[in-house]
Amino acid sequence: MTLPFPSSAEAAPGTPEETDVLIVGGGVTGAAMFREVVSRGYRAVLVDKGDFAGGTSQASGMLAWGGLLYMRNLEFGTVRKLCRARDDWISEGTDEVQVAPFRYLPLKKGGRSSSFVRLALETYWHLGGRRRSRPFRDQSSHPFLHQGRFQAGLAYEEAAMVQSDARVTLDWILGARAEHAHAWNHCALEAADWQDGHWQVRLHDRRSDSPRSLRAKALVNAAGVWADGVADMAAIQTEHRHALSKGVYLVVQRPKGLDQYLAFEMGEHGDTLTLTPWGPAALWGPTETLVESIDGGFQPDGNDVRFLLDQAARNLSTPLKPHDVLSLRCGIRPLAVKKNHRATKYPLDLSRKHAIDVDRAKRAITLFGGKFTSSGALAARAADRLERLVGAPRGVGGAGSRGAPGKAPRPHRPTNFCFADHQARWIDPAFARDQEACWLLVDYLRRRTSIAQWTPRLGLGAGDSHLDEISRLAEVIEGDRGSLAVEGLRAAANLQDETLECAFMRS
Ligand SMILES: Cc1cc2nc3c(=O)[nH]c(=O)nc-3n(C[C@H](O)[C@H](O)[C@H](O)COP(=O)(O)OP(=O)(O)OC[C@H]3O[C@@H](n4cnc5c(N)ncnc54)[C@H](O)[C@@H]3O)c2cc1C
Repeated sequence: MTLPFPSSAEAAPGTPEETDVLIVGGGVTGAAMFREVVSRGYRAVLVDKGDFAGGTSQASGMLAWGGLLYMRNLEFGTVRKLCRARDDWISEGTDEVQVAPFRYLPLKKGGRSSSFVRLALETYWHLGGRRRSRPFRDQSSHPFLHQGRFQAGLAYEEAAMVQSDARVTLDWILGARAEHAHAWNHCALEAADWQDGHWQVRLHDRRSDSPRSLRAKALVNAAGVWADGVADMAAIQTEHRHALSKGVYLVVQRPKGLDQYLAFEMGEHGDTLTLTPWGPAALWGPTETLVESIDGGFQPDGNDVRFLLDQAARNLSTPLKPHDVLSLRCGIRPLAVKKNHRATKYPLDLSRKHAIDVDRAKRAITLFGGKFTSSGALAARAADRLERLVGAPRGVGGAGSRGAPGKAPRPHRPTNFCFADHQARWIDPAFARDQEACWLLVDYLRRRTSIAQWTPRLGLGAGDSHLDEISRLAEVIEGDRGSLAVEGLRAAANLQDETLECAFMRS
């Protein structure tokens, strides 16, 4: 049974004081874990200090891919597992992912030879169990590619998300909610103490600015790049920590005729950049930069944008112009490394394996290095470890209630919001508020819909042409605080414009 979210900031009646599992983090790793443990019959509470998918899970390349690039580190086992996870996701037959026709473009000068790439793709195809189409030479040309820079391309297949990464994450969380399974966004874990064989935690509900407390048999730390901080706060033992790799994409107008996912050889670090279609837009990027701390890592700066503009000028027939760039995406990849690791390498040289650290004494599990592609497999393995820690679920259906995660029927979503000058229709804001825990204007524009990324100025439009519609939207979602929310949005749009202007001037 799917429960509506309370429409006021008050805690819902029946809010539990005790649960089996507390999951910290509502990114894709926490979402996958939530639906896995709920499907096994555990009572669970998931909390996120911001909106669901408000961390890196709203900033990915939105691919379910086998990790072709990780073959350069000879990580064949990881590649095999990622291919399996990609193909399992496709076979589930949901509308979350679809097969994505890719084309690898080797450089004419300074890159890998075409025969080497062909051999690598053939090996990749075999590692993936030959479940996708066999790679082949693809001579088709695109008018927007820099003529003369590339050898003939090689076609192969991956998978890509249909709507967005944030929407996948959200749907997993919403679909798993039940009487014994609660998910609270804008609710931060502030303290966690292991007392008398239980976790006693203090949460802070940011909407009502009030504390909540909860007792849990076990704690799953799925806080992405914040997981190290959560482990420190709760004094949980771990063998791993995260190295942090910042990644930025430009969201650009989709070039006419872009019907493939393109991987451009960079000629440096064995890395590639991609141009991938996404509705009326395309993603150009990503960057890979090791950063020391999370602070500021979620904010794209002039250097990130300039790098991508310069790369576009090299690889595309026409350099990007300011009106081509619709928005920016920025996240930090949580890369699992041993605690004593000193990260000096190019981030792509670091292993992309995930790690599950179990603190038996405190019944705590910390997840490192989660990815979209492998999040289901990671959650299944972590839930097996959880079962060994806390025993089979009791009281809400028992072990027999295990069901296929993610298969809950999706409720009908009315779509009645649109801009006068756009065709796209978006989810009813009142429905998003009442049924999808959408508390803030930015939650709606960025994660319940893709408006903030497909429309200039975070949805306000060029010259703030959508200001009236956005103001009405803000009132539906935030009530009296609507006008403040619009001011905040304008400030964020101005900041994004400044970053872009500064990068265009210097590129
Ligand atoms: C540029 C880029 C491209 C990528 N492309 C792909 C791709 O194409 N395919 C793929 O599979 N992967 C991709 N990834 C990797 C993938 O996006 C991430 O690994 C994944 O999103 C991480 O999810 P997560 O849930 O672990 O972390 P997050 O999404 O960051 O979630 C962690 C959550 O924990 C919450 N939290 C933190 N502290 C607390 C607290 N005290 N209390 C409550 N909540 C808390 C945060 O608010 C946050 O929402 C990409 C990553 C980047 C950066």
